[in-house]
Amino acid sequence: MYLKRLEIQGFKSFADKVAIEFQGGITGVVGPNGSGKSNISDAIRWVLGEQSAKSLRGSKMEDVIFSGTSKRRPLGFAEVTLVFDNKDGKLPIDYSEVSITRRLFRSGESEYYINKTSCRLKDIRELFMDTGVGKEGYSIIGQGRIDEILSSKSEDRRSIFEEAAGIVKYKTRKIEAEKKLDKTKENLVRIEDIIGELE
Ligand code: ATP
Repeated sequence: MYLKRLEIQGFKSFADKVAIEFQGGITGVVGPNGSGKSNISDAIRWVLGEQSAKSLRGSKMEDVIFSGTSKRRPLGFAEVTLVFDNKDGKLPIDYSEVSITRRLFRSGESEYYINKTSCRLKDIRELFMDTGVGKEGYSIIGQGRIDEILSSKSEDRRSIFEEAAGIVKYKTRKIEAEKKLDKTKENLVRIEDIIGELE
């Protein structure tokens, strides 16, 4: 699996639709200060489900939508699509090419798509779990992240190895199942109370 293409429209400084094709090997992005290099990695993290406006260098999520220039009016929505080559089947979905899209309107309404079919953010998170690609995955190493990894608590470092070992999916499912179990236990206690009152 590898990232083949990035399409950006209305996201930060990218007002017009731009498609960036990634070839095999290393791709370097060069440009003057403030030309939008970091906005490209912000776009990748955003489409993968980043929910923190601060970590996208804004104060509210709406800040990712193109806010206009002296010559151009602001836009009403931002849209980013990542296209992955999945010929090796690393992503658990029966397609050799997988696209994921996130769209955000100024109204705050948000949409997510997998292969152009509307889905939930949860579906995107689950698709990339244990691949290293997710929002918290190790495929995006931001400035200061190496220091953070080296100096962080051993439990935090462990989560990186768990993602690489492919067990995050099972841990997440276990937590969800435990929550359901607790809810069921609570319901049982309530039912027993009601039965007690009726007897
Ligand atoms: P440096 O080399 O200094 O790190 P860079 O090439 O990484 O710079 P970015 O930080 O990606 O640049 O881009 C910053 C530019 O993006 C600024 O000019 C800023 O005005 C513009 N920008 C950020 N958000 C928006 C937005 N919502 N609408 C329009 N332009 C935006």
